[in-house]
Amino acid sequence: MTHREGAKAAPDTEPPLLEVRDLRISFGSLPVVDGVSFTLREGEVVGIVGESGSGKSVSALALMRLLPSHARISAARLRFMGEDLLTASERRYEALRGAAIAMIFQEPMTALNPVLTVGEQIVETIRRHDGVSRRLARQRALDALKRVGIPAAAQRIDEYPHQMSGGMRQRAMIAMALACNPRVLIADEPTTALDVTIQAQILELLQDLQEEYRMGTIMITHDLGVVSSFTDRVMIMYAGQVVEDASAEQAFTRPGHPYTEGLLASIPSSETDTERLYAIPGTVPPPFNLPPGCRFEPRCAQAKEPCRQGRPVLMPCGDDHLAACIRNTGYVFPEGTNERS
Ligand code: ADP
Ligand code: MG
Repeated sequence: MTHREGAKAAPDTEPPLLEVRDLRISFGSLPVVDGVSFTLREGEVVGIVGESGSGKSVSALALMRLLPSHARISAARLRFMGEDLLTASERRYEALRGAAIAMIFQEPMTALNPVLTVGEQIVETIRRHDGVSRRLARQRALDALKRVGIPAAAQRIDEYPHQMSGGMRQRAMIAMALACNPRVLIADEPTTALDVTIQAQILELLQDLQEEYRMGTIMITHDLGVVSSFTDRVMIMYAGQVVEDASAEQAFTRPGHPYTEGLLASIPSSETDTERLYAIPGTVPPPFNLPPGCRFEPRCAQAKEPCRQGRPVLMPCGDDHLAACIRNTGYVFPEGTNERS
């Protein structure tokens, strides 16, 4: 398995691109994200990995301030290049969103406007943020479409989204996200809706662009395999909580949480028979029906009695490596509390 060799992150003296401390999100009284913390630096890729329903998209949308109004967001710290985003005005957010902080979504049709051509949408985004002439904006849009590998870009710039294939639409959305030179790119399952071969091409494109533009990228995926070659650091999310936070290298070679072990075992490889691929039994519990102890306990093959009683918090389990599992706490299991049969 390959990892990004040596993070090319900026030195510690510059303010990080993003600083997120104890981000919490609830809908009404229902908490769906429970204390997410991370730092994203220039040139760095942070992966957020977990099954559907873990709180990945909600976390990303909170950073973009794109959640519906019934969402309640709190954080001890939420900063973009040192600027407090919690107190930022709506107007300031409008300037940042789609420009300095850009996002690409799983399904391009939700982000692209069906009644405007791809070119019109990119031109509009560029003009809204940079106020350049229509002519210059169109040139920049065309350059962006070429840069993301859209063939015959000079013709396709005048196509509507529905005239493009899924892969081309995803490239067009990436072009739109990059058109204003973002410092932070949030990619929410950017390849999930695509065929496997197209997935690999889009991932390769994102990796090239990441290296070229030296953005900070948040790569969200349910597939740990997707981040293996791409990320510096990974946060594994489960039922609204970060259960592991580690360098990609450590997460892959010495996972600190049984959930991460399960995700690793579910990565298809060329040697495994995809028909018999491992899947963690069960599903992520919904926010209104969380188990009383460790949220992963009902699905954990290693669970013991204490796991049903208390919820483990993130604890060090290696160098710059955190995991929220009782097995990392030095706890001695009392006699008679055997592993579940
Ligand atoms: P993921 O992206 O990891 O699959 P989400 O972040 O979309 O998960 O969802 C996390 C939880 O928040 C889920 O339980 C989901 O049902 C809930 N949720 C998401 N959006 C809303 C919303 N607009 N209103 C209420 N609950 C929501
Ligand atoms: Mg999602």
